[in-house]
Amino acid sequence: EQTLPEALKASAQRFPNHVALEFFGRTTKYKELYEQVDRAALGLRKLGVRAGDRVALVLPNCPQHVVAFYAVLRLGAVVVEHNPLYTERELRHQFEDHEATLAIVWDVASEKIDRLPEDVRPQHIVTVNMTKEMPTLQQIALRLPVPAARAARKKLTARPASKAMRSWESLLGKRLPKRVAGPKLDDIAVLQYTSGTTGRPKGAILTHANLRANAMQGREWLPGLREGDEVFYGVLPLFHAYGLTLCLTFAMSIGARLVLFPTFDVGLVKKAAKHSPPTFLPGVPPIYDQLARAALQGELDLSTVRFAISGAMPLPVSTVQRWEEVTGGLLVEGYGMTEASPVALGNPAGPSRRPGSVGVPFPSTEIRVVDPDNPAVEIGVGEPGELMLRGPQVFKGYWKRPEDTAETLLQDGWLRTGDIVTVSADGFVTVVDRRKELIITGGFNVSPSEVEEVLLSHPDIEDAAVVSLPRGDGAEMVAAAIVTRSGAHLESEAVRTFCRTRLTAYKVPKRVEFVPELPRSMVGKVLRREVRELLLTKQ
Ligand code: ATP
Ligand code: MG
Repeated sequence: EQTLPEALKASAQRFPNHVALEFFGRTTKYKELYEQVDRAALGLRKLGVRAGDRVALVLPNCPQHVVAFYAVLRLGAVVVEHNPLYTERELRHQFEDHEATLAIVWDVASEKIDRLPEDVRPQHIVTVNMTKEMPTLQQIALRLPVPAARAARKKLTARPASKAMRSWESLLGKRLPKRVAGPKLDDIAVLQYTSGTTGRPKGAILTHANLRANAMQGREWLPGLREGDEVFYGVLPLFHAYGLTLCLTFAMSIGARLVLFPTFDVGLVKKAAKHSPPTFLPGVPPIYDQLARAALQGELDLSTVRFAISGAMPLPVSTVQRWEEVTGGLLVEGYGMTEASPVALGNPAGPSRRPGSVGVPFPSTEIRVVDPDNPAVEIGVGEPGELMLRGPQVFKGYWKRPEDTAETLLQDGWLRTGDIVTVSADGFVTVVDRRKELIITGGFNVSPSEVEEVLLSHPDIEDAAVVSLPRGDGAEMVAAAIVTRSGAHLESEAVRTFCRTRLTAYKVPKRVEFVPELPRSMVGKVLRREVRELLLTKQ
């Protein structure tokens, strides 16, 4: 068993001259990557980073992100990933929580870190400038949400850096002396914040053993992997649990070529595919839809893709059909969560995979389905219940949150997922809802996904999210936010009438509001918490 930096070293020894990273056509070989990691580790050590210290990465996907990740781990320090587009307020919450002593930051986002309150701001801020590697930075940045775009524009007119700042290049020293002891398997490798779909993001403690286990499980799960020869497309953010494990640890441990994209963009994929055709493409449904459309129009050749793996949100069967038609390869769905490093279930990557299901437990992973109100009671085949997981990829608890940890991580290592699922007689799991999103009205449980399914069957409804709202008397009511198809005209009462013929009265939304679009997370998940806030402000 190896720690993460040992696994990278092994790849560098097995495949020294294979390309590890590609970014806008520029490549880095495995042996060069490992050397850079060693040099960056020395630089970090000189700035005082020691085992157990938290180091914040606030970076989009780029080669420096990969080097920084492994350099921090090499010292036995802890990586904390951040979305560089988070606002100052969101970043402040995280920095207050993890107390990182050093941050490695995309220069476009560096002001947000530099402006953190004195007692929260890390002692050192290392800035990464990607303008040289990324000639299209400007265009890309300008397509990002407003704060980052504004920062990017300002950056181009250069501002003096504060004393705490230094450049990434100045960090790279000579090689790290051999006597620096690396981490142990049970040391914390990463503090990974959850997506914050149901509440404020929580820091999940993941050890080297956790993350390595998930990479090894993936290897066992996928038949016909060609070690040293796969071409991964890193379109998912590396700062999210899904992209982190698939690209930063799994791809690097099998000697793959990882083509990095700072943001998902069909145009960038088309360009890269001309000289590095992809074989392995982890993604989410909207990514597959857009790429399949480009392929159907003859603008993109996807015939080389053998593995496409979807997670994080439900994968529509229509997306699978279209993708498999244009690529000739398989698109299979898996299920995961930050607390499981993240993958826990997957469809077999072969003819027995089942569209609409999230598959079966990963190797060495056990599952149970229990009564959400009493996890000691098991639920039978086909009946909805809360999914529990146990396996080597299950996390060690939440950072500084003993109560949340006690609620989530039960005795004997069982993880309460908070997701309501059903399991078929032959063991395939289907996700139904999140426990926290079930709506209790007048003593009855309403499943938001059931109501959404009915709404989406209406020809004039493009998108819908169902949430609970306070009713005033302490109870909850069912409320729906609806996006109508362009050109369609709908009244709330007509929507309610439509629902009444298909749902029992207590499930029919009491309130129906029309919105231009639904708030989604960076991987495209509907943020029901924000939908609630939106509806509350409309009251
Ligand atoms: P938070 O825990 O902060 O509220 P989050 O649970 O969305 O946020 P993640 O760990 O990124 O943060 O997401 C895990 C969740 O994503 C799972 O608990 C599940 O609800 C959902 N999920 C993952 N894969 C799938 C899938 N294939 N289909 C449906 N839902 C999925
Ligand atoms: Mg969660």
